[in-house]
Amino acid sequence: MLDDNEIIVEILQEIFGEEKRHYESKGQLSMDCPICDEGKHKGNLEINYFQHLYHCWSCGDTNNMHGTLGKLIKKYGTKSHYKTYSVLAPEGNQTFHKKKINKLKLPEHFKKFNEVSSIYPVRRQAYNYLTNRGITDEMIDRYGIGFCDNGSHAGRIIIPSYDENNKLNYYIARSWDLRSKSKYKNPEAEKDKIIFFESLIDWEKDITLVEGAFDSIFIPNSIPMLGKHMSSLLFDTLYEKAKGFITIALDGDAWENSLKLYHEIFLCKR
Ligand SMILES: [Zn+2]
Repeated sequence: MLDDNEIIVEILQEIFGEEKRHYESKGQLSMDCPICDEGKHKGNLEINYFQHLYHCWSCGDTNNMHGTLGKLIKKYGTKSHYKTYSVLAPEGNQTFHKKKINKLKLPEHFKKFNEVSSIYPVRRQAYNYLTNRGITDEMIDRYGIGFCDNGSHAGRIIIPSYDENNKLNYYIARSWDLRSKSKYKNPEAEKDKIIFFESLIDWEKDITLVEGAFDSIFIPNSIPMLGKHMSSLLFDTLYEKAKGFITIALDGDAWENSLKLYHEIFLCKR
């Protein structure tokens, strides 16, 4: 299923044709200006669908070719384009992409280990699970790991992730009961729009890319990709910020994926 932003991109492609550039992490598209491009495919019309604004770098001032995305779609799209956009667009051009992420909260009944008596049976189950995986008290502390004893996430270890401003941007909710039907119950928030453990990454130092949050706990300055694929946000951020070496450490069955990632990073970084 397409998310809101993907639908907006599709609408824009239908109106203005294929974009010249697309920075997904910034929500930024370069398209051909319907007024001044004259078939030269220069991509001067910059559209930001996170901020819901557009601006033509060539004729923005002379032709008043700038403003809100709603205005642009109303003028150049069909009625149905505008109708679809209006449903998705936020009131007053807020960045709904960011709003969505900021609303994320830790599950109800989340508890840190040091907030609960060590003889509490549920805490002991959770703690034993972590100890069996080799996770120490220092790691629990450093990563703010907790657990839920009640509610929708009862029986789960919670590993929270914070962004560079120390705002919660995602969490992993792993069941410690082996009989549990679903191992994970992670939030609906789009995991490819965040960098897990971002608040803990030192971009000046060497970085290791791993698959899961549990892998990351054992490897200093590592980033879990929450899968075998790298999001375009992570790719862009590494490209912009990473100063040291980048090591790829995927699970043994993912050699092909590792190679692919290696090529993507290496070709861009040199
Ligand atoms: Zn123009």
